[in-house]
Amino acid sequence: AKSDGRGCYRFFEPAMDADAQLQREFEFELREALVRKEFEIHFQPIVDIATCRACAVEALVRWRHPDHGLIPPDKFIPVAEEIGLIIPLGEWILDTACRIAADWPDDVRLAVNLSAVQFRSGNLVEVVRDALARSGLPAARLELEITESVLLQKDHGGLAVLHDLAALGVHIVLDDFGTGYSSLSYLQLFPFSKIKIDKSFVADLPTRSDCAAIVCTVVNLAKALDMGTTAEGVETVEQLELLRAAGCREAQGWLFGRPGAASALVLDQPLAAPR
Ligand code: C2E
Ligand code: CA
Ligand code: CA
Ligand code: CA
Repeated sequence: AKSDGRGCYRFFEPAMDADAQLQREFEFELREALVRKEFEIHFQPIVDIATCRACAVEALVRWRHPDHGLIPPDKFIPVAEEIGLIIPLGEWILDTACRIAADWPDDVRLAVNLSAVQFRSGNLVEVVRDALARSGLPAARLELEITESVLLQKDHGGLAVLHDLAALGVHIVLDDFGTGYSSLSYLQLFPFSKIKIDKSFVADLPTRSDCAAIVCTVVNLAKALDMGTTAEGVETVEQLELLRAAGCREAQGWLFGRPGAASALVLDQPLAAPR
C-alpha cells in the first residue's frame, strides 16, 4: 500500500486498476463489435391468447463474441448506454429488424426495445421514420417498447418525443410494468397502446394468489384506459389458462417459442393448442 499524501493508504489500488483496465477492454471490444458485425437480432413470437397465433414478434439483440460466445443483452446494453454506443447500435437494430419484418404477413407486428438514452439523442423520431421508409414497413406494424425511465427525464423531453413518435403512427408499449416506482402515475402521462406485465408476476401465477390478483388488476386497469396487455415469461399451459381467465389479450414466453433466428419463426399456425 502507498500513501496518497493525506495519510491514507490505498490498499485496493492495484485491484481497482485491473478492474478499470478490464472495463476499458470490454468497452473497446463492444465498440469494435458493431464494426465487425458481431451483433445478432433474435426474434420471439408474441401470441394472441384467443388463437395462440403470433400477432407480433419482439426483436432481442445478442452479441456473438468471437471468444466468449453468445452474450445476452443484460451484460452489454448498460455499458453500450454508458459509452453512447446504444445510439448507433439502436439504429442498426431498428433498421435491420424493420427490413426483416417487412416480409412478414400484414397482421404480424414488430416490437423493438428502445433505451432511454436513445430518447436523449435528439433525432430518434427521424431514425424511426427513416427505418420505416427504407424497409417499407407500415408504421402501424411497429411497436416501440419503452420502460418508465423514459418518462422520468426531468425536462419531460422523453414525453415530447413519445408524442412525436406516436404521431408517426407507431404503437408505444410500456415494458416491465410493475417493476419500477409509482408506475400508475405514468399511465396518465401517455396513452400507451399496450402494457407488458413483467415476467416476475407471471412466474408465480399458479402458486401465489397475490400475483393472480395483481395480474387481474393490471388487465382491468389497462382495459379501463383502453390499452391492451401482454404477459411476459409464459412458460406453462397453466399460466396461459390463468392469463386467459384474467382477460389478458397477448402472451409471450418459452411456451410459444424461445428467441431465435428470423428464419425459424412460425407465423402461420398456432404455437400452442388454443382452448
Ligand atoms: P425485456 O424487453 O423485458 O425482454 C424480455 C426478456 O425475457 C428477454 O430476455 C427474453 O429472452 C426473456 N424471456 C422471454 N420468454 C421468457 C420465458 O418464458 N421465461 C423467461 N425466464 N424469460 C423469457 P433477453 O433477450 O435476455 O433481454 C433482456 C433485456 O435486454 C430485455 O428485457 C431488454 O430490456 C433488453 N434488450 C434486449 N434487446 C434489446 C434491444 O434491442 N435494445 C435495447 N435497448 N434493449 C434490449
Ligand atoms: Ca421488451
Ligand atoms: Ca419486459
Ligand atoms: Ca426488462
